[in-house]
Amino acid sequence: MATNRTFTMIKPDAFADGNTGAILSMIEKAGFKLIAAKLTHLTAETAGKFYAVHSERPFYNDLCKYMSSGPIVAVILEKENAVADFRTLIGATNPANAEDGTIRKIFARSIEANAVHGSDSDENAAIEGSFFFSELERI
Ligand code: UDP
Ligand code: MG
Repeated sequence: MATNRTFTMIKPDAFADGNTGAILSMIEKAGFKLIAAKLTHLTAETAGKFYAVHSERPFYNDLCKYMSSGPIVAVILEKENAVADFRTLIGATNPANAEDGTIRKIFARSIEANAVHGSDSDENAAIEGSFFFSELERI
């Protein structure tokens, strides 16, 4: 995957609240192109694999339960400087600390149910995109 790509998920809270369309619209208006998209439902096991890097953190078990609590939408995005620009667009992990106008500030319920995922590096964007999409499914 090219380094101008990042990976996001519309998390179960945002999907359940009916905010998928509004969030994808904000993402497109910010200049990101959709490369692949999939509506799916993680199990506790697949969520655990996705978040394996956090397996020693105190919030890990709750996070896996939450991420498997309902449908999600997984999306690969493309834009110049995609990883950093997308982190700016979504705002801080804890919506209480997120800048006004960011996706998490507008849509998140809590630090756990924070509406969207955003990759933290080019390397992880590629790994996370491959977790959900095969080569054939990407533009
Ligand atoms: N999370 C949580 N409690 C915390 C920190 C994180 O429930 O104290 C959840 C939250 O859903 C977050 C995810 O774990 O988005 C991954 O954490 P990370 O530190 O990677 O935050 P992110 O990169 O998503 O901003
Ligand atoms: Mg992270």
